[in-house]
Amino acid sequence: MPEKREQLNSITKEISTCRKCPLYQFATNSVPGEGNASAEIVFVGEAPGYYEDQQGRPFVGRAGRLLEQSLDSIGLNREEVFISNVLHHRPPSNRDPLPDEVTACKLFMLRQLEVIQPKILATLGRFAMNVFLPEAKISRDHGKMKKVDDYDFIVFPLYHPAAALRSGSILSDFREDFDRLGKLLKLQSAELNLMKKQEGIDESSKMEQMGLRL
Ligand code: SF4
Repeated sequence: MPEKREQLNSITKEISTCRKCPLYQFATNSVPGEGNASAEIVFVGEAPGYYEDQQGRPFVGRAGRLLEQSLDSIGLNREEVFISNVLHHRPPSNRDPLPDEVTACKLFMLRQLEVIQPKILATLGRFAMNVFLPEAKISRDHGKMKKVDDYDFIVFPLYHPAAALRSGSILSDFREDFDRLGKLLKLQSAELNLMKKQEGIDESSKMEQMGLRL
């Protein structure tokens, strides 16, 4: 079995030559995702924007700076986590992803998760969240962790940092949710693993104490 890094590199190579949807035709670079191959937490956003398309790296514009500041606020940097997107080529004029594009492209991100096997998947924005939680609404479900059948990790929906940059109230929610995410990370030890084995994750008093919610 190849090492995790090797497996991720092979996915990156496939993305760079992928023609499964028309988006590659409009892009300057593919944006496969990057970071720690053994990350405990993976962040997944929607799609590359202008700067990401130019550099071939995820979250390098203003939204990326907010993500980096937020990581810093919980004692992490981007080299310690893995950052990816649902789409790996930029949609023209940053339009929303189309359902067929999501269906075609999400498989790469799901394979990255299979290789990395994180404990927590933090989704950034509604498109990434709805891949795992089709019924969820970002305004209602942000900051609430969920255990989803078929996946070993906990899903933790966050607003997209670009949305946080457009609205003061969303920015405030985004920061509060990140704070909760930091607390959740601290529970990653045996205690968290124990909770994950329970049927679903009960709303324990311990988690309430830590300001976490379902
Ligand atoms: S956006 Fe995804 S599915 Fe479409 S061409 Fe790029 S890598 Fe392939």
